[in-house]
Amino acid sequence: MIPITSLAGQSIALFGLGGSGLSTAKALAAGGALVNAWDDSPAARDKAAAEGIYLFDLRDADWSGFAALVLAPGAPLTHPSPHWSAEKANEAGVPIVGDIELFCRERAMVAPGAPLVAITGTNGKSTTTALIAHILREAGFDVQLGGNIGVPILDLEPPAPDRIHVIECSSFQIDLAPSLDPSVGLLLNLTPDHLDRHGSMENYAGIKQRLVEGSEFAIVGRDDDWCEAIFQYLKRASHSVVGIANSRPNALASICFEAGRLRRAFALPALKTLEENLFDLARAPALRGAHNGQNAAAAFAACERLGLAHDEIGLGMRSFPGLAHRMEQIGRKGAVLFVNDSKATNADAAEKALQSFDDIFWIIGGKAKAGGIEPLRPLFGKVRKAYLIGEAAPDFAATLEGAVPYEQCGTLEVATAAAARDAAGSGAAEAVVLLSPACASYDQFANFEKRGDAFREQVQALLGENGAQGALF
Ligand code: ADP
Repeated sequence: MIPITSLAGQSIALFGLGGSGLSTAKALAAGGALVNAWDDSPAARDKAAAEGIYLFDLRDADWSGFAALVLAPGAPLTHPSPHWSAEKANEAGVPIVGDIELFCRERAMVAPGAPLVAITGTNGKSTTTALIAHILREAGFDVQLGGNIGVPILDLEPPAPDRIHVIECSSFQIDLAPSLDPSVGLLLNLTPDHLDRHGSMENYAGIKQRLVEGSEFAIVGRDDDWCEAIFQYLKRASHSVVGIANSRPNALASICFEAGRLRRAFALPALKTLEENLFDLARAPALRGAHNGQNAAAAFAACERLGLAHDEIGLGMRSFPGLAHRMEQIGRKGAVLFVNDSKATNADAAEKALQSFDDIFWIIGGKAKAGGIEPLRPLFGKVRKAYLIGEAAPDFAATLEGAVPYEQCGTLEVATAAAARDAAGSGAAEAVVLLSPACASYDQFANFEKRGDAFREQVQALLGENGAQGALF
């Protein structure tokens, strides 16, 4: 745990007692702050009380006495409308912050300049964060991995000069961290997401930009127009920045992913360009697909900046095991491969899985995001049949009509059985039963992990209890 001493002796309002809220309340109390914690859910309050956290109904509080409101990232700060606790804080002129802000203030006090790698982007954050942490650990560094992935940031070990914090940041967390100043800041890509919570794409991009703008050294993807504009802006401002480019071969000042390799282009004085081969991604089995080329290029740039030799980086890439629920190959039966991509909660993420396979038996649906699956139409030819679940099913059926055969399945269980049956009888050399739902999970599951776990269990049951026929990986 990281005791937060910057607010010692001060009275703090804290709203939101999920995982990171509990951790923050404890870290603040350990540092000597007087924490007044609340949550709208009685169950969350009971859990916090059982863990010794002081509860106080913030609706009845005199807000003029609070030095800060620590807000959970799940509670809206601005859109669609501020949470009631944020409104009360705004009315009383109380600053609103999150756990990453508290970490940054503590770092500035106890270990200024301690290495902090912060990663954001619409997609690929967790993969890139885990990859960077893995490469650094394999190279022998003391690494603390957390934030929006795994462990809440204040549950990690405190910052120290010889310890590297590798932190995934969501846009909500960046919005609550005005002094975020990583040593290395990464922005992978930007596509419309969470716009209900940010109001517009401009606001969303502006928040993500803050992470790289505040960094000592920035790494920015150049494959979408929003990020390219941010890359150019940072260059104009003479910020230390390196680009990551899948779609701009030979882009100077960038690491490019091209023909399966990471490369860098140099400009020589006589206007010549030289290329340096950095890594062959065919040697990293968990990093397949162009999207992982972007993640690997970003991780390469970050580790190089932290002083690792190229062969050390290569070793870490090769042994990276990958993450659950991201194109995770969970089993094979005969010619049928089962792939769990439950993390693909929007069309952009699902596109990556559709690009990576042929003869797909595609399980989709859940709570739809804006735009639905229309952007995936160019890939519909790869889909043998779709199996629809959840709230989005009627809308998705309308999009698929006449283009892809589909079946209304209602639940994941029915869909998995139907897709497995059809895939087995399809005659395809490799038939892929793919859960890549292009939707949030909240209509039927607590989160995407639970959805992916349910799929894995169903597949394992189909493969036979002991996996006798199944040859599980
Ligand atoms: P995040 O943490 O940003 O949600 P993950 O690393 O968990 O991202 O990956 C989620 C899904 O997004 C993956 O299953 C994959 O389909 C897709 N994805 C991963 N990396 C990228 C990328 N660089 N660009 C676009 N999509 C990606």
